[in-house]
Parts: sequence; C-alpha cells; structure tokens
Amino acid sequence: MAPDERARIVELDKRRIWHPYTEMGAYRAAVDPLVVVRAEGARLFDANGRGYLDGNSSWWTAVLGHGHPRLVEALRRQAQVLCHSSLGGATHAAAAELAEALAGVAPPGLEHVFYSDDGSTAVEVALQMALQYWYQNGRPERRHFAALDDAFHGETLGATALGGVEVFRRPFAAVLPRVFHVPPPRDPASRQEAFEALGRLMEERAATLAALVLEPVVQGAAGMRSYDPSYLRHARELCDRHDVFLVFDEVATGYGRTGPMWAAGYASVTPDLLCTAKGMSGGLLPMAATLARPRVFEGFLGSPERAFYYGHTFSGNPLGAAVALEVLRVFEDEQVLARAKPKAERIAAAFAELGSLDGVEASRSLGMIGALDLAGGAGYLERTGWEVYARALERGAYLRPMGNVVYVAPPLNIPDADLDELLEIVGESVRAALGRSGA
Ligand code: PMP
Repeated sequence: MAPDERARIVELDKRRIWHPYTEMGAYRAAVDPLVVVRAEGARLFDANGRGYLDGNSSWWTAVLGHGHPRLVEALRRQAQVLCHSSLGGATHAAAAELAEALAGVAPPGLEHVFYSDDGSTAVEVALQMALQYWYQNGRPERRHFAALDDAFHGETLGATALGGVEVFRRPFAAVLPRVFHVPPPRDPASRQEAFEALGRLMEERAATLAALVLEPVVQGAAGMRSYDPSYLRHARELCDRHDVFLVFDEVATGYGRTGPMWAAGYASVTPDLLCTAKGMSGGLLPMAATLARPRVFEGFLGSPERAFYYGHTFSGNPLGAAVALEVLRVFEDEQVLARAKPKAERIAAAFAELGSLDGVEASRSLGMIGALDLAGGAGYLERTGWEVYARALERGAYLRPMGNVVYVAPPLNIPDADLDELLEIVGESVRAALGRSGA
C-alpha cells in the first residue's frame, strides 16, 4: 500500500472509527496504528509489507492460522450457492451438518445446538435459556447467577453482569442482573477455601440461582489465570445436588486452546450448557453456538408460549457454518491437537524461563497459552505491558497485552520456526521494556 493511501486510511479511521477497549482521545492523539492489509499463517502484514507474528491469533480466533486454504475454499464454495437464509422455519445443509459435527465433538450429552454470532451472544443465550427454563418449569424465583471472581464472559448486559473485572463492570453495576461471585482455587493453598466458598454459596443461594457460569480452567481476561480442574467436578456435583444449571463458557478455551478440545476435558465434566465461538469459525466469520443437554431443550416443548423466543438474524449463517464445519474436519485431518502438544511444551519452557527474570512477578502456561505478569500492579489499566507491546512491534510481533499481563495465544498450528521466533521476541521485548540487556 502506498504511503499516501496508508495515511488516508489512518485519517479515515481516526475520524470515524470508535475502537473497542480504547480511550479514543489518547488513540487519536498518539497512536500510529498497525494498518493490516493481509494475513497468512501466523503473520499479519502491514501497509509497508512488513510481517508481524500474530501473538493472540487475532483475539483467539485464528486457531488454524490466517487464510488456511481449506477454510478459504469452504467459504468460497458455500458463497457460490447460499450466503444466507434464516433458520426461521427453514434449514440448510451447512447448519445441520455442523450441528451434528459439534454434538459429535462436544462433551457427551450436549445434544442440541443453538446458533448465534459471537462469544457474548453465546453466553447471553445460555443465560436466557436458564432463566426461561426455570420461569416456565416451576421455579421462577431462580433468576440470579453465580460466577467466578475476575470472570469475563462478554459484552451484553447479561454477560457483563457475570464479569468480575471491576473496571469493565462498574459503569453498569446499577442495572445488571444479580450475580454472586466466588473465588476460584488459584493455588493449592486456596483450594479448600474456594471449594468451601462454592459449597456455602450453593447452600445459601441455590433456591434463587438459575445457573453457575464458569470459564473452565483458564480465565482469559483475568490475565490467563488457571485454576485446578477438579473444581469443575466439584461444581458439577454441587449443581447436581442443588439442581442448578452449570454453564461452561468455552469461548476462549475451546478448540484446543488449553490442550484438549475443550477445557472441560481436563475434568471429564459435561455442563448443562456450553458456549463456543472464536476458534469455532477459524477467524473467518462471526459464528457461535450454545450447546444444550436434552433436559434444557425439553423444558421449552409443549406449547407456543414455552418456545425460546430468542434468535439473531444471522443465526446459523451458511457461510459461517460451512467454515466451522471445515474447521472441525481440518482439526481431525491435520491432527491439530496432537501436533500442538510439542508446541505447547516450547511455550511452557520459554515462559518458565521468563518467569525468573527480575521484573517479572510470575509466569504460567497451559496448552497454547503462555503468560507473564510484569511487576508494578495487576490492573487492566497498567502500562508496562504496552512498553512490551511497542518493543515487540519493532521486532515483528503483535503482542497486545492486558495491563501488565503479556501473553501469547498463537495459532495451534503455528510452524515451529515461527513459534520460536515469537517466543524469542517476547523474551527480547520483555527484557528491553524492563531496561535489561537485549534492548
Ligand atoms: N467469553 C469469554 C471467555 C471470552 O474470552 C470472550 C471474549 N474475549 C467472550 C466470552 C466474548 O466473546 P465476543 O467478544 O466474541 O463477544
């Protein structure tokens, strides 16, 4: 792209686009954005033709890298015959085949598939399904939710209510549905306490709880913090005992990000509702689904007023469905999960080493996620992470941080050489930002 053209795009951007998660004053005044013109494999390319390793798979979506030929071909094929028709009293092969395939790879017992557009809507669907189920099945007082401290579940008011990241929640707190937050078992020392806290909450509040909603094993926006998977079994037992729905938000953790296809796989637990998005359509199109057990589905049968009166215009969009189906086929044909294992080990080794740097408070990894906490505060608005971001861009990697948490979540099939380069850039950029050798 010619320099003039790049300047024009940035000018239009700054005049018109209100960016997500961005203070626009500072953005307009000081940010020279990455102008991405194309992407291939693990790399984004900017207007000058320079490549940047995509450290977060473009917000976790490009699990198979950018422009995977089979996904692009599936999209092209579908676009030639049917781009969109609604699921209002009609159906089509792409959505039907995908629903069957999803039920096949989901934790056993999730038989029914409700389509929506993105992670937030997949969670919103789960919340509204839970509320309506109880409303019309004899327990209308079950209208609150339980979630974890530091949780993140998306952007609708319902999903915002579940969120535990204070800075995201605060402006809306007065109008949100009631949610009780409990601490996850972050380390062995707090395990017992966290188990008991959930037990107490259930004893005290189950009568008014519609569902417990969890990001299984890894809390993404909390800074890629993981917790003991046995907590999922504990949650399942308590939800069974108190007859509360258990919802797993696998929007970020699904599609092998943490190792198994679903993070639920760490504990072999089936939730009542499972939300998936992001990697589901490989980063090509907005696409999401909420999978339900038969009990939930059957609670909406019997008469017109018992139907789930919820649906998005693009629910089950044929293009997204065709691509999502191809994603599952590629996972199988290319043995994506098995091949990611040694890559995950490389990430684990690199982040273990970075954890010992002065100025790095802690590091962790799980599956295709590596994260570290820079010293100097843990809030989302902390700035040292942005220093690392700037140094990484200079070196050819895109590493958008969360406050002082620097992390990688690259495509699961990132070539080894690219992964090694990414990890090296993370190390160099962290050292440089902390003012050490390697700057
Ligand atoms: N749930 C989780 C666990 C997420 O990480 C996110 C997005 N980061 C969402 C829900 C919301 O997804 P979306 O941005 O696609 O609406």
